[in-house]
Amino acid sequence: MTAQEQRHALVDRLVERERLDEQTEAALRAVPRHAFVPDSRAEDAYRDRPLPIGEGQTISAPHMVAIMTDLLSLSPGERVLEIGTGCGYHAAVTAEVVGPEHVYSVEYHDSLAARARSTLEAVGYGEVSVRCGDGKDGWKANAPFEAVYLTCAAGDFPTPLVEQLREGGMILGPLGGDTQVLTEGRKTDGSLQRETHGQVRFVPLK
Ligand code: SAH
Repeated sequence: MTAQEQRHALVDRLVERERLDEQTEAALRAVPRHAFVPDSRAEDAYRDRPLPIGEGQTISAPHMVAIMTDLLSLSPGERVLEIGTGCGYHAAVTAEVVGPEHVYSVEYHDSLAARARSTLEAVGYGEVSVRCGDGKDGWKANAPFEAVYLTCAAGDFPTPLVEQLREGGMILGPLGGDTQVLTEGRKTDGSLQRETHGQVRFVPLK
């Protein structure tokens, strides 16, 4: 099977199992996950599992990216902040929905940020903005964001991220330590109305 055939077979399974909306499905079909994982793991790119990407970090399993994309339910043109660029795959999926120029992503590790930038550029998402730094600070210069999501686990949503979220917007991410719960917060009158979406496992926020 070609990489594209493997990708479509994976997405077929995810759509059936997770009941994904069409927008999420189209984004997952479009982004070549094999281009984002290390060459040595390329043959595993279309298995539904996390993979190591260096610096002790992992790219999330495809179903987790799918579930988060569905929950955010973004529209084209909405401005999004991602915390934890990693290899850039999740940012590319988000870029498929909102447009690459509307995606801002912060990565702690220099080496990962640099590699993510070059992969994103190589596969057509060069307009995604990647900054190396501490995601807990958000990216004030580009705020407000319609949505913010974290791909690493925090004890709670860092205050600057909530401040940089537009009223009515959603922040989404894994909250907790050893046990984490995927949590959304809808900003309403300046504070967050929360809803939880089950137990998950992400690398910790630094
Ligand atoms: N979305 C990524 C998944 C990356 S795993 C992908 O598609 O590949 C989580 C990432 O969060 C790791 O790359 C890790 O280095 C990064 N991270 C951890 N703490 C961070 C922090 N304080 N600020 C920014 N990034 C952080």
